[in-house]
Amino acid sequence: MGTFLFDKIIFGPVASRRLGNSLGINLLPVNKKICNFDCIYCECGLTDGTKDKLPSRANVRFELEKTLAEFSSNNKPIDTITFAGNGEPTLHKDFNGIIDDTFELRNTYFPQAKIALLSNSTTLGSTKIQKAFEKIDQNILKLDSVNPATVELINCPIGKFNLAKTIEILKKLPSPIIQTMFIRGSFRGKEVDNTIEQELVPWLNTLKEINPAMVMIYTIARDTPFETLEKVPEEVLKEIAQRVENLGIETQISA
Ligand code: SF4
Repeated sequence: MGTFLFDKIIFGPVASRRLGNSLGINLLPVNKKICNFDCIYCECGLTDGTKDKLPSRANVRFELEKTLAEFSSNNKPIDTITFAGNGEPTLHKDFNGIIDDTFELRNTYFPQAKIALLSNSTTLGSTKIQKAFEKIDQNILKLDSVNPATVELINCPIGKFNLAKTIEILKKLPSPIIQTMFIRGSFRGKEVDNTIEQELVPWLNTLKEINPAMVMIYTIARDTPFETLEKVPEEVLKEIAQRVENLGIETQISA
């Protein structure tokens, strides 16, 4: 039941099918997760709700420039600079400023590299964050279910989260990438399974309306905080992906 935390502000690069050589930026602490979800499958462990110091904008800029300069002078490729890490990146109070710095440094050292964000979609309603979304090349946004009860069970939002409003905003974004985690098992005496028809049919209908650039389908890859959860077999993920592809939407599976 061990969990995994990124121990640096800048990490990787990680080889990714979608993102190529992806250099990661962790805007959260290196010793704990900070998130406004508490997903039962989160590989970073449980959200304890306590506050902690986040790296400053100046520090992120310094570390990123150091890494990009080193990679550039050693001719090491970077295809994507990805905001991910120990929690929800958009919760950083200087997120927009950090995005601006990242674009500036990207243009200096790796002008061909893309900038990507992995987000849980909870801050989509913020006008300020929307401005950052408009600049970012690839917004990869979580949507594990369109059923509010399932989102409560799987994602355990901390504070207010309006799923219907989030879906409405997703429909208006030009070309989001949707990321969905499929899991099975049980949690606190309740069955967990977002691969059943009652889940998949409304999820597929919503995808049709969102019309994303891609749907990334994945399942548990590392340890989770609860041992009662199971990985979904790859054949099932492939069947789900096929149903998405039948809608004319590209998919990518990580099993
Ligand atoms: S949104 Fe991501 S970081 Fe936050 S709890 Fe869920 S899996 Fe973990």
